[in-house]
Amino acid sequence: MTAFPPRAAAFGDDAVGSEGSLTNISASQASGLTAHATTSTAYHPTAQAGNDFLPGPVLLLGAPGVGKGTQAQLLVTKYNIPQISTGDLLRGNIARGTELGLKAKEIMSSGHLVDDEIVNQMVLHRLQEPDTHQGYILDGYPRTLDQAKFLDRTIADPIFLPRLPVVAISIVVSYDQLLQRITGRRTCPTCKHIYNIYSNAPKVADVCDYDEAALTQRSDDTEPVFIERMKTFDAQTAPVVAHYRDQGRFAEVDGNLSLESVNVAIEQALIDLRRATR
Ligand code: AMP
Repeated sequence: MTAFPPRAAAFGDDAVGSEGSLTNISASQASGLTAHATTSTAYHPTAQAGNDFLPGPVLLLGAPGVGKGTQAQLLVTKYNIPQISTGDLLRGNIARGTELGLKAKEIMSSGHLVDDEIVNQMVLHRLQEPDTHQGYILDGYPRTLDQAKFLDRTIADPIFLPRLPVVAISIVVSYDQLLQRITGRRTCPTCKHIYNIYSNAPKVADVCDYDEAALTQRSDDTEPVFIERMKTFDAQTAPVVAHYRDQGRFAEVDGNLSLESVNVAIEQALIDLRRATR
């Protein structure tokens, strides 16, 4: 399998992004990257990338509850790049009552995936905005193999900056910890403060520290719902992960660590992947 579709060479002559054409990376090199990234505690607390580091397109993957949103925001701030969430783009279209929004609305409320064609065109449009020129964090896209291939082909066109391929980073949290994060979650209905009965419990059980309101639990924060969501997540992401893993554009980071350590591990994985995909 090639590291990138035929037009990949276009990335190679990008003065900023590369010093040669894209290199094929074997699966063993790819898994080497994965192993490196998972030993994130070994990293020095600050991942050094240099001032001219171009993050490029980064797909962040993670099951519900791994803290993907928080980690995405840290990258957005650090690199001053946008986060592109197809869920948000679709909801924006629905809110504005566009034709696309009308098509997507019913499918989204049924919990199914919106047609590749619709999502791809929406992303194609979004990637033409100049704020993407240093890179962007992809959230919720690509979700299918066809979307991943479409994205590869699209951004191999030199009109899209930066001329770098997508790299995918998956935040992995152990099943037990994820279960505790979700089933332990309690919220104050008044001040919205979020607790966790396992890791960040209120002083008095089920009572908010700040306004003494009775804490509530979301009806879907239960183990059966969690198991279903995990199954759907695994089934949906497997082909996308396989796509990037096969091409050495994939790394896993250990999401069981502190927020800061996970952030450092993600930045280091990104630096390693950019080096490896030059
Ligand atoms: P999200 O906010 O990412 O959970 O997405 C909410 C809903 O939008 C999903 O359940 C899908 O119906 C739709 N959606 C978002 N991204 C995609 C995508 N890449 N492909 C297809 N459907 C999507």
